[in-house]
Amino acid sequence: MSPVPLFATSLEEQHERLLEALARAVRGERFILGPEVHAFEEEFARYLGVRHCVGVANGTDALAIALRALGVRAGDEVVVPSFTFYATAEAVAAIGARPVFCDVDPETFCVTRATVEEALTPGTKAVVPVHLFGNVAPVPELRDLGVPVLEDAAQAAGASVGNAKAGALGDAATFSFFPSKNLPCMGDGGAVVTNDDEVAARARALRFHGSKDKATFVEVGYNSRLDELQAAALRVLLPELDAWNARRRAAARAYEREGLAQYAAPPRAVKGAEHVYHLYVVRHERPDELAAALAERGVGARGYYRTPVHRQPGMADFVNPVDLPGTEECARTNLALPMGTLLTREHVSEVVRALAPLP
Ligand SMILES: *Cc1c(COP(=O)(O)O)cnc(C)c1O
Repeated sequence: MSPVPLFATSLEEQHERLLEALARAVRGERFILGPEVHAFEEEFARYLGVRHCVGVANGTDALAIALRALGVRAGDEVVVPSFTFYATAEAVAAIGARPVFCDVDPETFCVTRATVEEALTPGTKAVVPVHLFGNVAPVPELRDLGVPVLEDAAQAAGASVGNAKAGALGDAATFSFFPSKNLPCMGDGGAVVTNDDEVAARARALRFHGSKDKATFVEVGYNSRLDELQAAALRVLLPELDAWNARRRAAARAYEREGLAQYAAPPRAVKGAEHVYHLYVVRHERPDELAAALAERGVGARGYYRTPVHRQPGMADFVNPVDLPGTEECARTNLALPMGTLLTREHVSEVVRALAPLP
């Protein structure tokens, strides 16, 4: 049996075209907010079906900038899930606002209208649903609550609901192009997207020190731009995204066909969502024993967010008003199995065979 890595991806097929694109950017010598960034912003906005894309330095800055562009200020409350990567809540705290953690549905790993509603107060100024692991949180139901919705779409580039892409569903959305994400770059990169002209203009100013004209500085902002070289790379990789996601979905279907459900609870898409399986995360009562047994058989597996964000030391200032039983269950039982654009049917049956003899 050959080993099966947890992340079965590579950019090898794109190396030549990436090098050409980088050479073009080097020869252009416009390294800050040059033509590659402008072109990528247009191409990504068109891909998502939104009016504006603002390229920033990473997905964490994207969240902070988008929250401020939506009008969130120091002291405001922002509802976020606790079962997510730390950055979702970190960005809220970084702008002086207060993260209020809401629960998730353990079947989908995403927030629901009911879990968000439970955490709302008159002080809530935004909600940040996370499209976790490539699923799509139920944004239309959240928009009915009357609070601005910022989608954290870092893990869900290319996911969709009907004809609408994740990232085009809320008042604004953020993306990360960290190398492990579904749409990667070759280092750090991120974006804020929105249909709102005002929000886009504020995000553009915030990424450049709070200035629109580089002469007058109207707020304390950030130095946070998408890098020109990364934008050149992203223009090569964006056209691959749909085919890559199709391969991830095919691998997910293969897991089900091979009978994974006999051994662990498979991931479930939110109703109507086209999941893009950033990670393929199952649930099991003894996930760490399972991971150890898989490791002996050469199969990569890993539990995510075992300590949910609300229990991280960095969040100790924020005593949470609601209980989070779904979050605790997800944190305790989840296990990511191998996934990626290069995961073959043979790999998948190998993983399921490795699960079979376990208790
Ligand atoms: C990766 C990620 C981020 C942060 O993105 P960076 O580019 O690493 O700053 C934020 N939220 C979620 C859900 C993520 O997965």
